Amino acid sequence: MAERILIVEDEEKLARFVELELLHEGYEVDKAFDGRNGLEKLEGGGYDLALLDIMLPGLNGLEVLRRARRTVDTPVIMLTARDSVMDKVAGLDMGAEDYMTKPFEIEELLARIRAALRKSQRRAPETQVLAAGALSMDVGRHTVSYDGHPIELTQREFALLQALLENKGIVLSRSTLMERVWGYDYLGETNIVDVYVRYLRGKIDDAFGVRLVQTVRGVGYVIRD
Ligand code: CA
Repeated sequence: MAERILIVEDEEKLARFVELELLHEGYEVDKAFDGRNGLEKLEGGGYDLALLDIMLPGLNGLEVLRRARRTVDTPVIMLTARDSVMDKVAGLDMGAEDYMTKPFEIEELLARIRAALRKSQRRAPETQVLAAGALSMDVGRHTVSYDGHPIELTQREFALLQALLENKGIVLSRSTLMERVWGYDYLGETNIVDVYVRYLRGKIDDAFGVRLVQTVRGVGYVIRD
């Protein structure tokens, strides 16, 4: 299901430009052009993320965020035209996930949106259990076991295994895994994925004599039952 993003921005041309980019990326988009309408929509809920301009008519973005935080915890990325440290600090203190200073590169905004969405998705499912064959991952407890035998994984190994398990049967490219596990700012060195896949195989496949983490040559990796 497409993630829903709210844009609260009074510069309608900018809002429209960002909207088109987000639609192109497959998100659903809603817009508000002033603080009051933005707050109303945020409080109405149903958004996976909001882009919130600070300089808005009516209520400013910081005030919108402060009020919205009483009832909703939608991740928010603040947009500020001023390169004002105070605004950024205030926004982050009030619970904004991130901020962007205008003018920004759309690619950077998209990357920050993906990062913020990943972060909020990771903390959402408290009791989620993922499995492939006898391999089982309890996401909430942050534990992994094979046929009841606990497996010790580092943070990165855990994140990599989680990405594979969440997409069981689907081949994930190195760059997808890279972005998913290491974040957008590590683009380029995808061979680190191979290194961590080897670690995982050592602790799972080699240790238990199975072949769960599979290589699809020229494409990437997949975990199968
Ligand atoms: Ca503005």
